[in-house]
Amino acid sequence: MDRRSEIASRLDEIKSQLKPGVTLIVVTKTFPASDVQFLYDLGHREFGENRDVEGSAKSKELPADAVWHFQGGIQSNKLKSIVEWSDFIHSLDDVSHAKKISELARAQNKKQRCFIQVNLDQELSAGSERSGIKPESLEEFVEVVGDEAGLEIVGVMGVGPLNQDPAPAFANLQNASHRLQNLIPEARFISGGMSGDFKVAMEFGATHVRLGSSILGTR
Ligand SMILES: *Cc1c(COP(=O)(O)O)cnc(C)c1O
Repeated sequence: MDRRSEIASRLDEIKSQLKPGVTLIVVTKTFPASDVQFLYDLGHREFGENRDVEGSAKSKELPADAVWHFQGGIQSNKLKSIVEWSDFIHSLDDVSHAKKISELARAQNKKQRCFIQVNLDQELSAGSERSGIKPESLEEFVEVVGDEAGLEIVGVMGVGPLNQDPAPAFANLQNASHRLQNLIPEARFISGGMSGDFKVAMEFGATHVRLGSSILGTR
């Protein structure tokens, strides 16, 4: 099977497993722009990238109505570029980044839509590698960043645990979403779920799933 047909059949199969209304973000990191173009030609518009350089380059190669989601770790010196090409940032977890994004977005006459990334690890050891604010810090974080004029907080994002039952983690994410909506009623998106756990994430209200390998293959 050629690459295009392979992508088409995997995309169809995944789409048939989505709950109604759930937005599929195809994570195209490490895959060539030609794969993104196949997806685009199949009618898909939402793409996820983890790195600024890669996302910036691919976004310039694709037609303007493609929607770009940045979901990687944020480096402050890359923010100007990320705000230029991304429609959504999924990985906001730092107050100074929030202020900088807001400033950059205002200078570009846009509102940057952001998900707040919540760390879903059960045990937050001091050496925890995962990104995201602690769930219990959500209110405090929103209080500080919620009024930034260049930011639009759209919801919460989380990454499920490796090699563990993802259900408690996505239950925590759903709880964080409810608490966020108490503060910002419109911020109802939940970005949760990757290839290995998106069905569980949808059970817990995910509105956006981020899938790479199940559509494009192993990286
Ligand atoms: C790579 C990545 C994904 C996609 O992972 P797959 O297992 O390939 O579906 C989703 N979310 C984030 C944050 C990622 O880094």
